[in-house]
Amino acid sequence: MVTKAITASTIGINSYKIEVEVDVVNSLPNINIVGLPDSAVNEARERVRSAIKNSGFSFPLGRVIVNLAPADLKKEGTNFDLPIAVGILKEEGINIPDDSETAFLGELSLDGSLRYINGVLPLVSGLKEAGIKTVFVPYENAKEAALVQGITVYGAKHLGDIVNHYTEAPLQATVVDINDYLNKSMDIDYPFDFKDVKGQQKAKKALEIAAAGGHNILMSGSPGSGKTLMAKCLASILPPLELKEALELTKIYSISGLLDPKEPLMTKRPYRAVHHTASQNGIIGGGSNPKPGEITLAHRGVLFLDEMVEFPRSVLEVLRQPLEDGEVAISRAKTSVKYPAKFMLVGAMNPCPCGFLGDKEKQCTCAEYQIKRYRSRLSGPLLDRIDLIINVPRLTTEELINTKAEAEPSYKIRERVITARKIQAERYKNDGILTNSELSTKQIKKYCMLDAQSEDFMKTAAQKYQLSGRKYNRMLKLARTIADLNSSENIKLEHLMQAFQYRVDMI
Ligand SMILES: [Zn+2]
Repeated sequence: MVTKAITASTIGINSYKIEVEVDVVNSLPNINIVGLPDSAVNEARERVRSAIKNSGFSFPLGRVIVNLAPADLKKEGTNFDLPIAVGILKEEGINIPDDSETAFLGELSLDGSLRYINGVLPLVSGLKEAGIKTVFVPYENAKEAALVQGITVYGAKHLGDIVNHYTEAPLQATVVDINDYLNKSMDIDYPFDFKDVKGQQKAKKALEIAAAGGHNILMSGSPGSGKTLMAKCLASILPPLELKEALELTKIYSISGLLDPKEPLMTKRPYRAVHHTASQNGIIGGGSNPKPGEITLAHRGVLFLDEMVEFPRSVLEVLRQPLEDGEVAISRAKTSVKYPAKFMLVGAMNPCPCGFLGDKEKQCTCAEYQIKRYRSRLSGPLLDRIDLIINVPRLTTEELINTKAEAEPSYKIRERVITARKIQAERYKNDGILTNSELSTKQIKKYCMLDAQSEDFMKTAAQKYQLSGRKYNRMLKLARTIADLNSSENIKLEHLMQAFQYRVDMI
């Protein structure tokens, strides 16, 4: 007799339904798993055998054949232990009903207890889309699984709990209130606040614009100018995550094994500071067992590259494609997987190798050719993808003394950012995007219309600065955000002129 149990496997942050078929044939006792299992799936053989025996159930005496269908898709992860065990128990006559609308996910310990697994949110989302109505998961994963609405979730601590569920002791379904988690994002305490940053009005305004429209920004300034501190403060003015964003982000952290089982929904925008010595796989994603990189972990949040010119050229160039597409393709043995990567790039750099070019108190000691070579490490095409490029001068001793101690607190800036984001969300509600930075060329034509005067200004500027098409469009998107921050329905000349001030490389 062939028995079946349903489970799922992930690909990227999506998943697909897998049918586990179990058959026992008269032969020497053994377990064979077929259907493209990876090594973790193959190791299920040993875990499942011990778990079944140690839970007090009998194990088939013949050869157990496990087929994972469809056979052409690679299966990975440890969530196959439970469905395989369920199939084998059915073979042994245990009463677990045949049900094509129930699925099983979970790793087994040798004693039969169920262990926390990665990727439960994407797995359960995929199962729900495939028409599954009920899913059994490890107890520790139950809250995460229950984030998927419209599917009944049972969290089990032990293989025996699942058998008992169908006889004497039904499990209780896990239910969570997503809004409860989302509301928590409203009162997050941020360690860095703009109220502690003296002066730097222009840089703060630039960061506010960047946050409001989701724009990439590069800050150039001497050591001690506060670039890094301001980048850290940026997290405190970002708007709370929308539910759709929170679920996307949770899927990423779930497959990466970075989710806190107690707080299953990601409610805070990520802020990922990456050092220039980090590996390319670590930043972009990949490796022999492909994993999302920093750019994906920064999805819907901030990726901060301090000392940006120190990053290997190869890494910076690979960033161009995800900066443009909002996703990254990671190639692997036979296929490639795509991970989302809609992050705000925040870069910081010194203006020259010694760091003091343009400083009011310290003398720059660099030769012109050294400065040129230093800056050329950031290629034109990469800079084309950065909307705001600003100088952040170091305050002089006198300015430091004379500037009043407390500046505008982050929560006030954040209120303006949230208002501007709401305007954008409303405007783009039928376009599948959330911010101005995501506008496509076609959408720019629709939403960034200019009056005759502004059109003239842009034409002149395009000629004067020899703007590439990409740069031209970026200026329009930036002006759109400045207009939104001013609650202006149309982009006006003043917004365009302001946008140009935030591209020091062109002035
Ligand atoms: Zn210098």
